[in-house]
Amino acid sequence: MFKLRPILKTYYDALEEGKVLGMKCQECGDVVWRPLPTCQKCGSTDLEWFDMGDEATIDEIIFENTNLKGDYTFAKANQNFVNKEPYCICVGHFEGGNLFHAALYGVNEDNVDEKISMLPITAKVEFIQMDGGFKSVGFRIKD
Ligand SMILES: [Zn+2]
Repeated sequence: MFKLRPILKTYYDALEEGKVLGMKCQECGDVVWRPLPTCQKCGSTDLEWFDMGDEATIDEIIFENTNLKGDYTFAKANQNFVNKEPYCICVGHFEGGNLFHAALYGVNEDNVDEKISMLPITAKVEFIQMDGGFKSVGFRIKD
């Protein structure tokens, strides 16, 4: 079972309330998600929680059949997902935020070429239930 680090308790508690929190640097204004204790731009540790909203822009779709092979990190995470719906990996960003990698739902072999041709596209936050009793954040492409 996936172990929860105490430092991220606020983050996971907010997910239970349907909120995705990032960190906003109080010195340079940079917004980072997922949350980190130090600003990646200026090195400041003066960061405050910041509501990231419920949508992000998807810049890149990395499609592969996760049931067969794929990135080890994500294959491992997948074992902890309660929902076994296939997903792919995306590179995206929240408005004003950094690039991230995350799970992306709603892409399949039939629509992958079409979706890639539409990039960048908007996707909704998808709360992924983990078998440890908490949630993780992925995204779902709108139809
Ligand atoms: Zn900063």
